[in-house]
Amino acid sequence: MSTTTPGIAGRADALLGLFDGPGIDLLLVSELVNVRYLTGYTGSNGIALIGPDKLAFVTDFRYVEQAAAEVDQRFERFHTAGAVDLTKKLPELLGSAPLRLGFDEEHTSVGAHRRLAELLGPQVTLVPAGGLVEELRRRKDAEEIAAIAAAQQLADAAFEALVSKPIIGRTERELALELEQDMRLRGASAPSFDSIIAGGPHGALPHASPRDVAIESGQLVVIDWGAMLDGYASDCTRTVAAGEISDRARDAYELVLRAQVSALDAVRPGADCNAVDKVARDIITAAGHGEHFGHGLGHGVGLEVHESPTLSLRVAPGADKLAVDDIVTVEPGVYLPGEFGIRIEDLVVVTDGAPRVLTSVPKALRVVD
Ligand code: ZN
Ligand code: ZN
Repeated sequence: MSTTTPGIAGRADALLGLFDGPGIDLLLVSELVNVRYLTGYTGSNGIALIGPDKLAFVTDFRYVEQAAAEVDQRFERFHTAGAVDLTKKLPELLGSAPLRLGFDEEHTSVGAHRRLAELLGPQVTLVPAGGLVEELRRRKDAEEIAAIAAAQQLADAAFEALVSKPIIGRTERELALELEQDMRLRGASAPSFDSIIAGGPHGALPHASPRDVAIESGQLVVIDWGAMLDGYASDCTRTVAAGEISDRARDAYELVLRAQVSALDAVRPGADCNAVDKVARDIITAAGHGEHFGHGLGHGVGLEVHESPTLSLRVAPGADKLAVDDIVTVEPGVYLPGEFGIRIEDLVVVTDGAPRVLTSVPKALRVVD
């Protein structure tokens, strides 16, 4: 359990400022990560109700003490005796006046929506209002930036420990387990996603999972890993050489590095999310590898390892721009089927000037025995 983060106090008020968009009187917050963001609660069953005159939090009997310790004091706390479906508490919280209740349509099944409508009756109009909390979560406050920086620092240290020892002859799975265990020993609650350690041709699959296959001399090895610390994620990729690699692999590494550094420099407030991707993509395309960079340049990182904004050619030009205190990854790659993959990923904070890079692991090609 932790004490309430100071930054939490203003979040519900900021959320109220977004109610005019969908035209709602109250918002039902059901995604746990959003409940945590607004209330401070870190348990595994909780919902929140946010309105101009109502801040309510509901959990079940198992979490009463935890909620008392964690939930922001401005929220009135309720709990159900046995029911795990917390929405059963809503009718008494909402009263009998007609109202428009926002809900998260992105995370509500058709069945759950039907049950909710039956439970609340005709005076409550259910209005799709997903994405409002996510919009707020995008811009990080000082405490959040510090938490993400600390998660990245921890992950960096675990990586340094991993590659300070030989990797040739060890399996991808062994290396992934060692990295994840080391992050936990250093204080991480979990890896922020399943680590990727992929040698040689396996590295050409951007989402490769570790195999019981040993790293061989002469391979490039893609290592993509992150830590969860105090609820916040980190995300980083490095590609290392296991012994001596071919000139072709070395050239491709230098290309990805050049694209990565150029795109990093384009991470500025007001920069178009499509255009930042294009900076890296143009460099890789000019070198003849355009079709070998099959994913977007980057994504936001916070309470979740993938959140808003998205840096990608799939975001329409002009549709989204970076803003101060966005935290994003910059991770171009080149993947040559049957040969190797290369990805270099840093985690950065958008500032008024040059981006603040949270990743401390060097990017010059590293040769590990
Ligand atoms: Zn990553
Ligand atoms: Zn990433």
